[in-house]
Amino acid sequence: MRNIILSLVLISCGPMVTHNQLRSGKEQYIDAKVVEYVNSYLADASQNGLNVESINKVSSISFVDTLPADVQGLCKRSFFSDNTMEAEVQIHRRLLSGNPIVLKVAIYHELSHCMYHAKHTTNVIGGLLSEYIVSKSSYYSQNWSTLVTALFTEIKKQQPKYSIDSDR
Ligand SMILES: [Zn+2]
Repeated sequence: MRNIILSLVLISCGPMVTHNQLRSGKEQYIDAKVVEYVNSYLADASQNGLNVESINKVSSISFVDTLPADVQGLCKRSFFSDNTMEAEVQIHRRLLSGNPIVLKVAIYHELSHCMYHAKHTTNVIGGLLSEYIVSKSSYYSQNWSTLVTALFTEIKKQQPKYSIDSDR
């Protein structure tokens, strides 16, 4: 584990912004460069027993040129007075020039925030809900299936209401 800890870099997502605003009413926009990862996320979530209907609450997934310092991705959630919610994923454009697996990690991470209100796992190094992205990208490709299973297990533990097996 030591070498993983040492290779951590201060990147990954920043705080989730929550605020009240008027309902946007705009159509869902998903950047073509991440559609493959979004579909993969939905298939994995479904296979792991989660309801994926909340993808309809994600109004957009897009690349942006500026985010707070060292932040790679963001999930902005807006709550409306009628108890509905809309979320927006912003990914820093710099991830397009790096290893694609890191972009996939960012999508999995942010969709977990936006679709399931997942919180960071502060005690897990290198998890998909960890606040930091491990700089050695081969770590993700080598451990991918284990990381995905752990991610959805954690989400179901945090938010059992999204589980297909749930009574709710
Ligand atoms: Zn995060």
